[in-house]
Amino acid sequence: MASLRQQIATTALTLTKYRDLMKRMQENRPHDDLTIVKKAYDYSLKYHDGQTRASGEPYLVHPLEVALVLAEMKMDPVAVAAGLLHDSVEDTSVTVVDIRKEFGEQVAHIVEGVTKISKIDFATREEQQAENLRKMMLAMVDDIRVVLIKLADRLHNMRTLEHLPPERQHKIAEETLEIYAPIAHRLGMGKIRGELEDLGFRFLDPVGYEQVETAVNARRKQGEAFLAKMEQIITDNLKEAGIQARVESRIKRLFSIHKKLQKQHIAVDQVYDLCAMRVITRSLQDCYAVLGIIHNLWRPVPGRIKDFIAMPRPNFYQSLHTSVITDDGTPFEIQIRTEEMHKMAEEGIAAHWKYKDGPVSAQDEQRLAWLRQVVEWQRDVSDPNEFLSTLKVDLYPEEVYTFTPKGKVVVLPRDATPIDFAYTIHTEVGHTCVGAKVNGRMVPLRHKLHSGDIVEILTQPGHKPSRDWLGLVKSSRSRNKIKHWLNVHQRERAIEIGKKLIEKEARKYRIALKEIKDEDLMKVASGYGLGRAEDLMAGIGYGKYSARQVLARLLPAGATPTIAGDIEAEGLTSEPGAIASVVRRVFGDHNAITVRGQGDMLVYRARCCNPIRGEGIVGYITRGKGVAVHSVNCPNVTNLLYEPERKIDVEWARDDSTPTSYPVKLTVYCDDRFGMLKNITGVIGDAKSNIRNIAAHTANSQASVEIVLDIGDLKHLEQIIAGLRKIPGVHEVQRLQKI
Ligand code: MN
Repeated sequence: MASLRQQIATTALTLTKYRDLMKRMQENRPHDDLTIVKKAYDYSLKYHDGQTRASGEPYLVHPLEVALVLAEMKMDPVAVAAGLLHDSVEDTSVTVVDIRKEFGEQVAHIVEGVTKISKIDFATREEQQAENLRKMMLAMVDDIRVVLIKLADRLHNMRTLEHLPPERQHKIAEETLEIYAPIAHRLGMGKIRGELEDLGFRFLDPVGYEQVETAVNARRKQGEAFLAKMEQIITDNLKEAGIQARVESRIKRLFSIHKKLQKQHIAVDQVYDLCAMRVITRSLQDCYAVLGIIHNLWRPVPGRIKDFIAMPRPNFYQSLHTSVITDDGTPFEIQIRTEEMHKMAEEGIAAHWKYKDGPVSAQDEQRLAWLRQVVEWQRDVSDPNEFLSTLKVDLYPEEVYTFTPKGKVVVLPRDATPIDFAYTIHTEVGHTCVGAKVNGRMVPLRHKLHSGDIVEILTQPGHKPSRDWLGLVKSSRSRNKIKHWLNVHQRERAIEIGKKLIEKEARKYRIALKEIKDEDLMKVASGYGLGRAEDLMAGIGYGKYSARQVLARLLPAGATPTIAGDIEAEGLTSEPGAIASVVRRVFGDHNAITVRGQGDMLVYRARCCNPIRGEGIVGYITRGKGVAVHSVNCPNVTNLLYEPERKIDVEWARDDSTPTSYPVKLTVYCDDRFGMLKNITGVIGDAKSNIRNIAAHTANSQASVEIVLDIGDLKHLEQIIAGLRKIPGVHEVQRLQKI
């Protein structure tokens, strides 16, 4: 229990911060209704009550500071309210549903997005992965305000990082440098990026930080004096030329100096641009005029002039950069930009929230489509949501970011399926892929993956890719892998089949395949316009040429088949349909049941009803086991209809050349008379069914006989049931769905 004194101190502290927040909001957005911010403050005051941070401060200080950062970015009341509530779902009993009820859809949606991102562990060692994680974070959010809140959150956490134990400091600092600072950079938010980087550097590498700091401080005084002198010269010359501009100068940020030192393997006093200067002009033309004036004053360093105005950086950063050498030989860098470019460089995407009422200057055709959307939105603020969803689509439109169960990021094209995922992991994983779980749930292979999905591929040794997959994959890599496999393997099989067919045909003439000379085969092959004997065999296997015709060309004229030719071979070679059926049998790797539209999923017959070929069936995607196939008559089907999204179309595979049989259980109710069992088994035997198990119960000269027998398909079963019903003394025959 906090003492009364503590409680009063807490209230005073949070209240002061709250007043700061409201003051800043009123200054920055004088026309906005701030009711929602006040309400969010009261709400978080209630729910974070009694919680403290590692620093010992009341927890509420954190959301208040985050909201203050957002207010300084001139964000709208919805974003600031969401900032106040950003930890409420994660750290208190509050749910997103509660937030929605109290604050409406937008705030709830943003808080939900922030919570979702908080759950991802961004810790990584690999540079490549870090890039993917950054992209993923941006792809995952559909409201850019979620990212801005995460950045504000991280900024305050970094500012107060000293209160955490060293390991935590290290991990959070690393994540900041790998993920958050680059995201701030990508969104053009130079100011936040700079602070995040310096704080990250300080906690990740305290020794290195101190070294750079000491070295820079040693030169600071001298540097500042130098900058003051230069600033005066520039200001005077601009005035003389009649150009209105302001000049800013600064010592560069420690992290950017540190990076430069590392990259160029140099000492601090060798850094070109420890001192940096900025000239901020009123117009674009003035930027180039200023550049001319500066190059007139000092000698420019060749190759160091960069025109980011004509060629903006990908994050829309615009500026002219040049490095010059002063008369006493000191190099320094000057950036020249307009006020508007400056705002974009410092605040990036957040800058767009500010000019809602003001003029818009982004007519630059060079800028990307999403920036034009910003402009559109500024003109018509009636539907900000639509703007935000467009923004999301365009941030990373073509890619989804998914995870392996171990947390490795797999980048896939939009609308990619688990098959794409499998082929990205490994070719062999792709080939043997039979199913997939997304976020722990079994999904069909055609399922479209989304950013943030955790995907687990189920494989089966010996499983083979199917031609249907070509219609399901999105990446060209998987498509090529599948095509390659199909080409190689189908040809191999066709050759094998071709050889078998020739062999069978030859047997009718009592000739072994070995006796046929290669050169003779070659001759026939070239007769068909083929280059190799293998091509001829493949052609036979594919059913292009008949084995009989090919053999006729191979044999001496007048050879006739012996009568002993085997019937099967006769049948196979005479009709093209039969060839196709053999081809299918050998090629065929279908299950007895296929899922419509895709050949390969884990499919099994539901134990509750054991459907047999010919029966109406429906498939249900189970959690973790594949597709369960039920008879349409199964009582469970009605229950399963409550989750219609799990229903999936299935059909009996058309390939019925593979004999399949299913155990079916029947109960025969009949008179207990002599010879009854013999009659029953007789009917079953006549129908060429195999009895697996039989048991009889008798009472009062009545009997019930339970039989488990192998059934080929529904017709077969119906035939047997009809036969049994015809036996004198049989009253009823029932099929038991469960065996
Ligand atoms: Mn937080």
